[in-house]
Amino acid sequence: MFQAIEAGNISGDSKFTRLCHQLLEEILGVPRVLLTTSCTHALEMAALLLDIQAGDEVIVPSFTFVSTINAFVLRGARPVFSDIRLDTLNMDENRLESLISTRTKAIVPVHYAGVGCEMDAILGIAGRNSIAVIEDNAHGLFGKYGGRYLGTFGVMATQSFHETKNITCGEGGALVINSAEYIDRAEMIREKGTNRSRFFRGQVDKYTWVDIGSSYLPSDILAAFLYAQLEGRDMIQARRRQIWEYYRDNLVCWADKQGVRLPFIPDHCEQSYHMFYLLLPSLDHRQRLILHLRERGIQSVFHYLPLHLSEMGRRFGGRDGDCPVTEVVSDRLLRLPFYFRMSEVEQERVVSAICDFHL
Ligand SMILES: *Cc1c(COP(=O)(O)O)cnc(C)c1O
Repeated sequence: MFQAIEAGNISGDSKFTRLCHQLLEEILGVPRVLLTTSCTHALEMAALLLDIQAGDEVIVPSFTFVSTINAFVLRGARPVFSDIRLDTLNMDENRLESLISTRTKAIVPVHYAGVGCEMDAILGIAGRNSIAVIEDNAHGLFGKYGGRYLGTFGVMATQSFHETKNITCGEGGALVINSAEYIDRAEMIREKGTNRSRFFRGQVDKYTWVDIGSSYLPSDILAAFLYAQLEGRDMIQARRRQIWEYYRDNLVCWADKQGVRLPFIPDHCEQSYHMFYLLLPSLDHRQRLILHLRERGIQSVFHYLPLHLSEMGRRFGGRDGDCPVTEVVSDRLLRLPFYFRMSEVEQERVVSAICDFHL
């Protein structure tokens, strides 16, 4: 960060932004990565690049963060909510075909907890119906499906570098472009609809307004912070793996006895060690465990209220019972404290508090 400040260029696309782009392109083996101000903004760019119009339909899991679909709704799209699989909590590819209509423009799978969706099936269905796939890979940087990095399957993918994610710069994101046809326009949309990137490469002699767009590039100060995180990725991921495995190894007996389910990782997936969750037998059990932990000074959280049952989701026709697995999981899932600096003592305290809890 001090290097960025000393170099005197702290606006977007300066030295550290370029370093982040190169590093991510190299690791993932993709033609273009563009840092953005957030994953939300990367999703908005994807919606602009796909020319999403009013009335177009976009299929997303109901069990995800708001941004996954809001970016498309901003362009006038209608969300079509998919249920999830009970094992990985990912978009249920077996129900996908029945959600497709002539208006479907995009499918947006989310690699929940950094465990890959069934991309072979999803890409097959999307391909047969000429529908674009955009991966919301906010959880899954460096995870793999069938030996290949998550984020490299769809025409585009989006990453988040929000404070809550594995690799962070506070607020930030990236658009991963796998289909080269989108690169030129992505650069313009990200730079207020101008051809500024081409100007700096000497491809045009002045830059001007050529498309719609916005300002989606982060300051180089954030990119410098992010670059340091990316350089430390092996250490960060190794530590997160230890934390995850500690939870699994020390909770598996308790979970079996109590009828609690731990995360499931299919053999063909390498997860990103983004989170560790428990699936309790009922809402009441989950709420009691939250209280039990709170009384011992441990904060545990749950997430994703089903999008189809949210105020907005209902306005788009969402009804109780539309996505039964999502509804059940949303009531029963509990996330355990999970962060890079978590010490072994802290983890032991969490585990022993949980093992004291009898359903
Ligand atoms: C965190 C998250 C986002 C949003 O990321 P921001 O960088 O905060 O915009 C989008 N989708 C999912 C699945 C997320 O977990």
